[in-house]
Amino acid sequence: MNSSDRVGTLIVGASQAGLQVATSLRELGATEPITLIGGEARPPYQRPPLSKRFLQGDLAEDRLALRGADFYASNGIELICGEWIETIRLTDPVTGAGEAVTRGGRRLAFTRLALTVGGTPRRMRVPGHGLSGIHYLRDVDDALALRRDLAGAGRVVVVGGGFVGLEAAAAARAAGKDVVVVEAADRLMARAVAPAVSGFYADAHRRRGTEVRTGTTVTAFTGDERVRGVRLSDGTLLPADVVVVGIGLEPRTELAGQLGLRVEHGIVVDAAARTSNPAIVAAGDCTVLPHPLTRQGRVRIESVQNAVAQAQVAAASLLGLTQETRAVPWFWSDQADLKLQIAGLSAGYDDCVVRGDPATERFSVFYYKTGRLIASDSVNAPRDYMLVRKVLGDGGTLPPDRVGDESISLKNLVNPPTAVA
Ligand SMILES: Cc1cc2nc3c(=O)[nH]c(=O)nc-3n(C[C@H](O)[C@H](O)[C@H](O)COP(=O)(O)OP(=O)(O)OC[C@H]3O[C@@H](n4cnc5c(N)ncnc54)[C@H](O)[C@@H]3O)c2cc1C
Repeated sequence: MNSSDRVGTLIVGASQAGLQVATSLRELGATEPITLIGGEARPPYQRPPLSKRFLQGDLAEDRLALRGADFYASNGIELICGEWIETIRLTDPVTGAGEAVTRGGRRLAFTRLALTVGGTPRRMRVPGHGLSGIHYLRDVDDALALRRDLAGAGRVVVVGGGFVGLEAAAAARAAGKDVVVVEAADRLMARAVAPAVSGFYADAHRRRGTEVRTGTTVTAFTGDERVRGVRLSDGTLLPADVVVVGIGLEPRTELAGQLGLRVEHGIVVDAAARTSNPAIVAAGDCTVLPHPLTRQGRVRIESVQNAVAQAQVAAASLLGLTQETRAVPWFWSDQADLKLQIAGLSAGYDDCVVRGDPATERFSVFYYKTGRLIASDSVNAPRDYMLVRKVLGDGGTLPPDRVGDESISLKNLVNPPTAVA
C-alpha cells in the first residue's frame, strides 16, 4: 500500500466556501498545515459573473480569481487544483482525523476535515437531453462553452426562470439573440420572490424583447446530434440553436455519505457549521443549515454571502471556538439594467407591502411574518436594501402599515432594536 501525504487540515472543495475556511483558519491563528483541494483546474474564482458580465464578454477571465496567485503561499495554504477526492474515511471519529484518496490514487492523511463541495446543476432527462448545444452553467468552462456557442446562434431557449436562467437570458438578449424563457411554475423566480416581483420581471423581460412562457414544461429536445428545437407540454415546438438549462442545484453529498454523516437534501449542519459528527464541518451550497435568523427549520442558501458566513464559523469550530452564523442573508441578481437585491429570507411570509411604483422599474417589496419584517426585495433601490439589511441585523422592524408610503423616509420608520429570538 502507498504511504499517505500528511496534509494537516483538509478542505475538500476549492471555491468560495473552501477558500474562506482556509483564510479564516489563518486569521484565527491556526498554525498547522492547511490543504485546500479542488477538482477544477483553476484556483478559486467567483461564479456570479459567469451568468452576467463574464457571459457577456465584459469581464476577463483573470478578473474572476478570488485571490492572487501569491496569496496561497504567503498564507501557508497548500492549494491543489484539478484533483478529485474519490474516497474518504475517518481513522479517528472523535478528532475527525482520517484519510482521503484522490481519483489518481494519491493518499492524503488529514488531522481535521472541512467539506465545501458545493453542488452540480440539476440535469434534464427528457428525450434528446444529450444533444450538443444544450448547456448548463456552473463553472468557467461551462460559461466559455456557452459564450462560444451563443456567438453563432440566432435563437436561444432558456429552460428555467430562476436567477441563473434569467441572467443568462438577459445576457443573450443583450447580444441581440431571439430569446424564449420557459418556466414550469406559473411565475418567475417563484421560490425566492413574491408574485409582485415575479410579475414585474416577466413584464420587464418582455419589454426588452424576451418571450416569457410560464406554466409550461419541456417534454423533449429535438435535432440530430445538435439541438434544433424544444418541445413543450402544450405541443409547441420552439426552434433553438442553443439551449440553456437552469433548473436548480443538486448538493454534492457523496463524501458525506461515505463518512456516515446526516444528509437531507444537503449535508446537515448546525449553526456552528458542524455536521452530525461535530469534529467535521461543512459550509456553502452543499449544506442545509438552521435558518440563520429564526433558527426555525432548515434552509439551503445558495449564495456567496452564506458560503462566506458559514465558512467563517466552520473555521472557528475546527479550532474549538464557538461561533454561530447569525448574519443576515443577502443576495443579488443582475438582469439587464435591473439590479435585484434581497435582504433576509422571505420564505414563510404572511404579508408583503410594495414601496414605489414597479412601472418606474425602481421599487421594493417588504416581507412580514406575524407583523415583523423578515426580508425585502429591492429593484434598482439600493438604499432600501441597505437599510433593511441593517434593520434586520439589529433585530429591528419597519411598520407594515407605513412602509409603503414613499413620502416618509424609511430611516424615520425604524423601530428601536429588540433582541432576535
Ligand atoms: C452562474 C451562477 C451565478 C451565480 N450568481 C450569484 C449571485 O449573483 N449572487 C450570489 O450570492 N450567488 C450567486 N451564485 C451562487 C454562488 O456562486 C454559490 O453560492 C457559491 O459559489 C457557493 O460556493 P461553494 O464553495 O459552497 O460551492 P461551489 O462554488 O460549488 O464550489 C465547490 C467546489 O468543490 C469542488 N469539489 C466538489 N467535490 C469535490 C471533490 N470530491 N474533490 C475535489 N473537489 C471537489 C468543485 O469542483 C467546486 O469547485 C451563482 C452561481 C452560479 C453558478
